[in-house]
Amino acid sequence: MSFVLPAEIVLASGNQGKLKELSELLSDCPNTLRLQSEFGVEPADEPACTFIENALLKARHAAARTGLAAVADDSGLSVDALGGAPGVRSARYAGEPSDDARNRARLIEDLADVAPDERGAAFHCTIVLLRHADDPIPIVASGVWRGMIAQAARGNGGFGYDPVFIANDTPGRTAAELTKQEKNARSHRARAIAALRTLLTA
Ligand code: IMP
Repeated sequence: MSFVLPAEIVLASGNQGKLKELSELLSDCPNTLRLQSEFGVEPADEPACTFIENALLKARHAAARTGLAAVADDSGLSVDALGGAPGVRSARYAGEPSDDARNRARLIEDLADVAPDERGAAFHCTIVLLRHADDPIPIVASGVWRGMIAQAARGNGGFGYDPVFIANDTPGRTAAELTKQEKNARSHRARAIAALRTLLTA
């Protein structure tokens, strides 16, 4: 491995679920991930319009506040017919406070006049790993999960835009109708983590 990771790495998040998911997927790496909230670090602002910039800002913020190596991710949905929106604004597409059901309703409404073959979309996830706040060579890994936006929401699983997203590799079912295992085997996040693992072990 060309990138020697420190024993302890801070995850730029306060989300226990994200910590569990990343820790499990990197369980064969001899490093301990800890949430930035454990160190009293407040969430970073996410002012940028790209996933990579926001992930980098979050990782740098966590590394600067803790003095540790830091990992951050940023993800969202990008719809072709909307010029890539909602993109980095996915969580707040229908305004504040963030509300998944309202976001989905706005998306369906925005695409009401868009033909089935023009409803292409993709989930994106970018993960950034910094050895320290001034690291000039961040490790950047991305994952994309392509599909289309359904005419109406369906399914009870997952979260966010899952009920309105039909992936190309699981036709006929929304992501909310997949099992957890099916989604975790192919999602944008799973692909980004696989890419990160490849970079770390290259
Ligand atoms: P975060 O950056 O991972 O917190 O994700 C930002 C937003 O993107 C979420 O609030 C969701 O609206 C959307 N999103 C990201 N990943 C997924 C997914 O796997 N399924 C559905 N929505 C997602």
